[in-house]
Amino acid sequence: MFLATKNSRIQEVHFSEINDKGISLYIKREDELHPFISGNKYRKLKYNLQEAFNQNKHTLVTFGGAYSNHIAATAAAGFEHNFKTIGIIRGDELANNLQEVIKNNPTLKFASEHNMQFEFVTRSAYRNKNTSEFIAKLKEKFGDFYLVPEGGTNRLAVRGCEEILTSSDEQFDIICAAVGTGGTISGIINSLKNHQKAIGFPALKGDFLQDEIKKYVLNNDNWSLNTTYHFWGYAKISEELITFINKFKSETSIPLDPVYTGKMLFGIVDLIKNDFFKKGTKIVAIHTGGLQGIAGMNILLERKNVPQIV
Ligand SMILES: *Cc1c(COP(=O)(O)O)cnc(C)c1O
Repeated sequence: MFLATKNSRIQEVHFSEINDKGISLYIKREDELHPFISGNKYRKLKYNLQEAFNQNKHTLVTFGGAYSNHIAATAAAGFEHNFKTIGIIRGDELANNLQEVIKNNPTLKFASEHNMQFEFVTRSAYRNKNTSEFIAKLKEKFGDFYLVPEGGTNRLAVRGCEEILTSSDEQFDIICAAVGTGGTISGIINSLKNHQKAIGFPALKGDFLQDEIKKYVLNNDNWSLNTTYHFWGYAKISEELITFINKFKSETSIPLDPVYTGKMLFGIVDLIKNDFFKKGTKIVAIHTGGLQGIAGMNILLERKNVPQIV
C-alpha cells in the first residue's frame, strides 16, 4: 500500500474582512497530509505509485517547471517508496550551471536531495513532451519507466482526489479548490453529495480547463470555474496578493502558497465581501498544499525588491 488513505482536519476561519457577512468559511488542511508530499499531490500520486508497482516499474518519469510542487512531491514519494525518479524540467539554460541553480532553487535542491535525476529540456522540447517521439527518446535514454503526466493528472490521480472529501464534509454547501490541470477539482466533483456544489479557481489563464475537467467528471451541473482570480497568469504575483497572504496568515495562522491557494482564498474572500453567497452558506476551501513553493518565490521577490511572503 502506498500513501495510506487519510482524512485531513477541518479548521474554521475567522478573518476580519468577512467576519460580519454571515458566511461560515472552513479550510480543509490537506497541506498537513504529509510533510513533503504536499496536499493534492499526495492524493494524485497514490494510485499512480500503486499502478507503477503493479506494472513492475522501478522508475518514475515526470515533468515540471523548476519550482513545481509536483516535482518536489514526486521526488519525495519516490524516495520514500523506493522508486528511482527522473524529472524532465523545463528550461535547458538551467543545465549550464547546475550546482549554482540548485543552490538558489529550493525546489530543485529538495528534489535533488531526494535522489531525483534531472533532464533539462528546451521550452520547445517541453511543449512536445507528450508526443510519442519524445517519449521514445526518453525510453532510449533511461530504459523502461512509469510515466506520470505533468501536474500528475490522469484517471488514477482523479481517483485519488475522490478521497479528499469524506462524510465529515457533508455539512458544507460549497467546496472550493484551486485549479491547475483540473485533476483535483475533478475528483472533488465526482465525490460531491447532491446538495453540494464545487467552485474551481484556475491559477492560470485559458479556456481549456472546462473541457479537461469534463473528461473526468460525470455530472456537469454541480460545478463551475471562477476565472477572475488568476492574477495575470500562472505563478504571476502582485503586492496586493502578497499583502493578502500575509494578512491571512497573521489572523488565522494558516499559511497560503502564492501560486494556488493564495489566489483561491483571495477570490473566496472577495466573493464573500461582494455578497456572492447567500447568508448562512457553509463553505470549505481545500488547502491543496504547495507551501514548498514559498521559499523559491521569496528568492524571486527579493531580487525584485518587493515585500516577501512571511
Ligand atoms: C498542483 C496544485 C494544484 C492544482 O491541482 P490540479 O489537479 O493540477 O488542478 C492546486 N494547488 C496546489 C497547491 C498545487 O500544488
